[in-house]
Amino acid sequence: MEMEGLKDILDHLSESIIIIDGAGRIVAFNREALRIEKFISERTLQAGSHFTDGLTDERRKTLADMLKTVKRQKRPLKNFVEHCSSCGTRVFLEVSFIPVLGLKKEVRNVNIITQDITSRKIFEKKMKTVATDVNNMVEHAHAIIFSFDSQGYIVEWNNQCTQVTGFTKQEVLSRTCTDLLINPAHRRRFQELMTSVMTNRPVANHELLLQTKTGGEVIAMVSATPRTNHNGQVIGGTVVGQDITELTTYRKSLEKMIKSKTEALEQVLKKEKEAVEQKSRFVSIASHEFRSPLSSIDFATSFIKQNAATIGKKKLNEKVRVIEKHVTHMSHLLEDVLNFSRNENGKIKLYPTEIVLESFIRDAVEEVAENTRHSHHICVSTNRLGLLLTDEKVLRNILINLLTNAIKYSPGKEEVSLNVLDHDDVVTLEVKDDGMGIAEDEIGTIFEPFVRGRDAGAIPGTGLGLSIVKKAVELLNGNINVNSAPGKGSAFLVTIPRQLYRN
Ligand code: ADP
Repeated sequence: MEMEGLKDILDHLSESIIIIDGAGRIVAFNREALRIEKFISERTLQAGSHFTDGLTDERRKTLADMLKTVKRQKRPLKNFVEHCSSCGTRVFLEVSFIPVLGLKKEVRNVNIITQDITSRKIFEKKMKTVATDVNNMVEHAHAIIFSFDSQGYIVEWNNQCTQVTGFTKQEVLSRTCTDLLINPAHRRRFQELMTSVMTNRPVANHELLLQTKTGGEVIAMVSATPRTNHNGQVIGGTVVGQDITELTTYRKSLEKMIKSKTEALEQVLKKEKEAVEQKSRFVSIASHEFRSPLSSIDFATSFIKQNAATIGKKKLNEKVRVIEKHVTHMSHLLEDVLNFSRNENGKIKLYPTEIVLESFIRDAVEEVAENTRHSHHICVSTNRLGLLLTDEKVLRNILINLLTNAIKYSPGKEEVSLNVLDHDDVVTLEVKDDGMGIAEDEIGTIFEPFVRGRDAGAIPGTGLGLSIVKKAVELLNGNINVNSAPGKGSAFLVTIPRQLYRN
């Protein structure tokens, strides 16, 4: 009865169980044992028969050996068997031999428990295939893929990583990402990424600056996800990214190009705006500066016409002088305008000649004194003057303009001064007056064409003189500086090279 109850229980188990005695005779077995033995050995188990009866020689030998070992060692033993039935079905079995010891520690029985692990084996095989596939995919993906552990040590490194950085897998495996891979400028950024991943927060679309084996830089767009163990604990992270260096460089070069094009366009617009402003300034100045001499001329000629019969010689001469004076003034104005436009169009051609400085200065000073009817004394001081290789006409224009301005803008004063110094490589010309001076906010603009100072109002002028001077100085490869304060006079200092062209 007890045995019957036990058999009932055994029959309900999913494992096959065969109990044999010390001599190898079958004591008991369950239903599953019957099924399996039928399937793999095509034999029917019978209590009392030897448990190797009906087996092939090969299997009999294996089982007899196993049994011997169990008896000797008196410890359980496990064995795996792969069996292919005659109809081609493959099964995997896990066979355990468990000895049952008697009082004297002799092996009384051996329980042979066989488990069909075919489905487990198939699953394992599938898992292995999947794992190999995933590994292959990672290894050959066209993306940077690497993993790090909780300390930041690199534990995975695919082919693309090697391609992009030049570091082989062997070289990186015992190194930390921060030390080896991340450019110092982005180490903090990477630290933040790691912290985020280690606290189970994935990171997406992060720009990282990597350093290569040869010291180069690579810009990568990466995303990072946590890696967990079977308990779900985060044990590190996996970084997946793309090398976007080329893209970024291209983007940057485009941005640069757009910037420079925009700047060029702004420059053109600015020039255009300046030209419009210049034109309107010119119109207003020309209408004022040309109209007043013209109306004086008109007035004088009408007077002569109306009094043609009665006008005396003295009066006539007086009127003719007025006309001459205004004609001269107008021709000067026109000369200025022409000079300016020639310069603007780049039409001025330089004719450098060797000038004897001393006589050149003397002539220019005399010309200014005459033009200004000797209203001021021009006090000239120099050191030993030599020869100068430059364009005489252009230099005269500079000097005459500056001296005329000095006189023009110091009404009521008695003298202006000119100091010429001949140095080794350069010649300096300083024109000084004690006149009205220039307001600080105007010093920056007086060299622009058609710009006149606020206080110049009553003094005739076109606002062209200094712009011509500046251009002329530039043509001679020199420079000009001004030092001036309202009521304190002005000093214009021109420096030009001794030789216009260096050999
Ligand atoms: P213009 O004399 O025809 O007005 P310029 O271009 O020669 O034109 O001079 C521009 C402006 O600079 C003048 O209107 C004047 O306000 C100022 N300026 C030039 N030279 C002097 C000077 N020596 N002293 C004071 N102001 C001056």
